[in-house]
Amino acid sequence: MSEKIYFNFQGPWSDAATELLCSDTGSWRTERPVLDEEKCILCGFCAMYCPIQCIEMKGQFFHSDLNFCKGCGVCARECPKKAISMVPEGEFK
Ligand code: SF4
Ligand code: SF4
Repeated sequence: MSEKIYFNFQGPWSDAATELLCSDTGSWRTERPVLDEEKCILCGFCAMYCPIQCIEMKGQFFHSDLNFCKGCGVCARECPKKAISMVPEGEFK
Protein backbone atom coordinates (compact mmCIF):
# COMPACT_ATOMS: atom_id res chain seq x y z
CA MET A 1 0.00 0.00 0.00
CA SER A 2 1.42 3.42 -1.00
CA GLU A 3 1.96 6.13 1.59
CA LYS A 4 -0.28 9.22 1.29
CA ILE A 5 1.61 12.36 0.20
CA TYR A 6 0.64 15.86 1.42
CA PHE A 7 1.88 19.08 -0.19
CA ASN A 8 2.73 22.15 1.84
CA PHE A 9 0.15 24.38 0.15
CA GLN A 10 -3.04 22.58 -0.66
CA GLY A 11 -6.55 24.02 -0.99
CA PRO A 12 -8.77 24.85 2.00
CA TRP A 13 -10.25 21.37 1.85
CA SER A 14 -6.89 19.87 2.72
CA ASP A 15 -5.33 19.25 6.08
CA ALA A 16 -2.11 21.04 5.20
CA ALA A 17 -0.42 22.24 8.37
CA THR A 18 1.07 25.38 6.82
CA GLU A 19 -1.01 28.57 6.67
CA LEU A 20 -2.46 29.22 3.23
CA LEU A 21 -2.22 32.46 1.24
CA CYS A 22 -3.98 35.28 3.09
CA SER A 23 -4.51 38.54 1.15
CA ASP A 24 -5.64 41.85 2.60
CA THR A 25 -8.54 42.16 0.15
CA GLY A 26 -10.18 44.80 2.37
CA SER A 27 -7.81 47.40 0.92
CA TRP A 28 -9.36 46.88 -2.54
CA ARG A 29 -12.74 48.13 -1.41
CA THR A 30 -14.39 51.36 -2.64
CA GLU A 31 -17.79 50.55 -1.06
CA ARG A 32 -18.71 48.59 2.03
CA PRO A 33 -21.83 46.58 2.85
CA VAL A 34 -23.98 48.11 5.58
CA LEU A 35 -26.73 46.06 7.16
CA ASP A 36 -30.20 47.34 8.05
CA GLU A 37 -30.93 45.05 10.98
CA GLU A 38 -34.65 45.90 10.86
CA LYS A 39 -34.96 44.25 7.43
CA CYS A 40 -32.75 41.19 8.03
CA ILE A 41 -34.52 37.85 8.40
CA LEU A 42 -31.32 35.91 9.22
CA CYS A 43 -31.60 33.68 6.15
CA GLY A 44 -27.81 33.52 5.77
CA PHE A 45 -27.83 33.96 1.97
CA CYS A 46 -25.31 36.80 2.21
CA ALA A 47 -22.84 34.52 4.00
CA MET A 48 -23.43 31.69 1.54
CA TYR A 49 -22.94 33.86 -1.57
CA CYS A 50 -19.98 35.97 -0.42
CA PRO A 51 -17.25 34.83 -2.83
CA ILE A 52 -14.52 35.13 -0.23
CA GLN A 53 -16.60 33.83 2.65
CA CYS A 54 -15.88 36.80 4.91
CA ILE A 55 -19.40 37.15 6.37
CA GLU A 56 -19.95 35.63 9.75
CA MET A 57 -22.42 35.76 12.58
CA LYS A 58 -21.39 38.47 15.02
CA GLY A 59 -23.82 38.95 17.85
CA GLN A 60 -27.33 38.46 16.49
CA PHE A 61 -26.62 39.30 12.83
CA PHE A 62 -24.37 38.45 9.93
CA HIS A 63 -21.60 41.00 9.37
CA SER A 64 -18.67 41.25 6.98
CA ASP A 65 -15.10 41.12 8.15
CA LEU A 66 -13.88 44.41 6.70
CA ASN A 67 -10.28 43.22 6.74
CA PHE A 68 -11.23 40.95 3.86
CA CYS A 69 -14.47 42.32 2.33
CA LYS A 70 -13.51 43.62 -1.12
CA GLY A 71 -16.78 45.45 -1.69
CA CYS A 72 -18.00 43.37 -4.62
CA GLY A 73 -21.66 43.84 -3.64
CA VAL A 74 -22.70 40.22 -4.18
CA CYS A 75 -24.15 40.01 -0.67
CA ALA A 76 -26.27 43.14 -1.24
CA ARG A 77 -27.48 41.82 -4.58
CA GLU A 78 -28.42 38.37 -3.25
CA CYS A 79 -30.11 39.52 -0.04
CA PRO A 80 -33.81 38.72 -0.54
CA LYS A 81 -34.90 41.51 1.84
CA LYS A 82 -32.58 44.21 0.41
CA ALA A 83 -31.19 44.62 3.91
CA ILE A 84 -27.65 45.36 2.73
CA SER A 85 -26.65 48.66 1.12
CA MET A 86 -23.31 49.33 -0.51
CA VAL A 87 -22.04 52.65 0.86
CA PRO A 88 -19.01 54.53 -0.53
CA GLU A 89 -15.92 54.25 1.66
CA GLY A 90 -15.55 58.05 1.57
CA GLU A 91 -18.55 58.31 3.91
CA PHE A 92 -16.65 56.55 6.70
CA LYS A 93 -13.55 58.80 6.74
S1 SF4 B 1 -29.13 37.76 3.06
FE1 SF4 B 1 -30.09 39.62 3.88
S2 SF4 B 1 -31.82 38.90 5.10
FE2 SF4 B 1 -30.46 37.14 4.76
S3 SF4 B 1 -29.08 37.11 6.55
FE3 SF4 B 1 -28.06 38.29 4.95
S4 SF4 B 1 -28.63 40.42 5.38
FE4 SF4 B 1 -30.08 39.13 6.48
S1 SF4 C 1 -19.30 43.00 -0.54
FE1 SF4 C 1 -18.55 41.07 -1.48
S2 SF4 C 1 -16.75 40.54 -0.30
FE2 SF4 C 1 -17.87 42.04 0.90
S3 SF4 C 1 -19.14 40.86 2.27
FE3 SF4 C 1 -20.37 41.32 0.46
S4 SF4 C 1 -20.11 39.58 -0.89
FE4 SF4 C 1 -18.47 39.47 0.63
